[in-house]
Amino acid sequence: MKLYMQVLIALGLGLKRNWHIFAGLILGVVAGVWLYGHQNPVIMTALTFIGQVFIRLIQMVVIPLVISAIVIGITSVSDSKQIGKLGTKMIFYYAIITTIAVILGAVLALLFKPGLGAASYINSDVASGIQAQVATTIESQKGNILNIILGFIPKNPLSSIAAGDMVPILVFAVIFALALAKVGDINRPFVSFFESVFAATMKITDWIMCFAAPGVFALTAVAVSSFGTDIFMSISKYLGVLALGFGIQLFVVYPVFLKVFSKVPVLMLYAAIAEAMMVAFGTASSSATLPLTIACCEKRGISHKVTSFVIPLGATLNMDGTALLQVVAVIFLAQAYGVVLTPFLIVQIALLAIVASSTCAGIPGAGIITIALVLNGMGLSPEQLVAGFAFLFTIERITDMMRTLVNVTSDAVVAAAIADNENEINYDLLNNPEEYNDVIN
Ligand code: ASP
Repeated sequence: MKLYMQVLIALGLGLKRNWHIFAGLILGVVAGVWLYGHQNPVIMTALTFIGQVFIRLIQMVVIPLVISAIVIGITSVSDSKQIGKLGTKMIFYYAIITTIAVILGAVLALLFKPGLGAASYINSDVASGIQAQVATTIESQKGNILNIILGFIPKNPLSSIAAGDMVPILVFAVIFALALAKVGDINRPFVSFFESVFAATMKITDWIMCFAAPGVFALTAVAVSSFGTDIFMSISKYLGVLALGFGIQLFVVYPVFLKVFSKVPVLMLYAAIAEAMMVAFGTASSSATLPLTIACCEKRGISHKVTSFVIPLGATLNMDGTALLQVVAVIFLAQAYGVVLTPFLIVQIALLAIVASSTCAGIPGAGIITIALVLNGMGLSPEQLVAGFAFLFTIERITDMMRTLVNVTSDAVVAAAIADNENEINYDLLNNPEEYNDVIN
């Protein structure tokens, strides 16, 4: 059969399998547009409640899932050299994808200059103050990288777990799992314990996913209903630049990446993770989507060994969609306030966006908050740029939905590439969407 036929069948089957989530998404857009015209607080409260129930239910299983997946993933690779190899490759692949994302964001934002449209809304005295401040900071810039790194090391793993700080939790889980792998057979009780935790959390995910269609419907409707049409016009270029950037990541960068580093057919992979992509879009949370991303990959041919190691780490550390947005948003602000974008400043913004996105939690809105870290590097704080931020916030939710879809897709792309390199992928299954097991029962 011709490739394009296979692709059409795969997409058709992908949609058929997930028609209810897809319908939730489309109906959510329609309901959101209607609600924008007919403000109805009762319906809004009900929809916000349904959306929150869905997100909270999934977030509930994330921490036990992440810790158990990492412990099982690392201890199942018996040979410590192989863990090192997998880990190094994972970091290398994630770094490539995120670096391309920030370069892409910078090029598009410099080319299309989305911030100029907002400049006329900004007080010129405030703008000159900001320009002077950036100039002095860049002069004395030393960076606060060391403090950021310190924050990654948990003083007390339990308090990190209680606070839901994902990076320190991951650091602890990886070190703990490496130690368990090293101590040999004595680790059996603990590993069995985590195997049970993992199985139970995946079962809970199955149950929660029965709620995916109404959840995605409610979240989308609330997001769409909050757009304002006037401000939307002056921010549309920014949205356009982001949509173009995300589109290039999804349809050019990942396919080329998979071609160069593996033989994974990108559209089959997208068909396999269609549910996760839609839930990512609906929830705007990589963490909340994590159980589903794992389930989609595992049930469609990527081995447990690879998914359980690569995807939980990716869901927290690999945020290329967020990094792209942060670069575009900061360049937008710089353009709006008339800050001169020297090559040095652009490189600094890009590097800080890589760090800021990696430290950002996989929850809605985290990316726009960690932008503070990038601005901090320029000697600024979001409070000084309220007028500029007001623009970004009008469409924050929709950009969050888009960047989360990209974040989640890239985790699966990297997992698939590693699985291919390690012979841990069942192509007979991945290439046959007719055979896919349901992730939503
Ligand atoms: N919502 C994003 C995610 O979960 C993070 C962000 O706000 O950029 O992937």
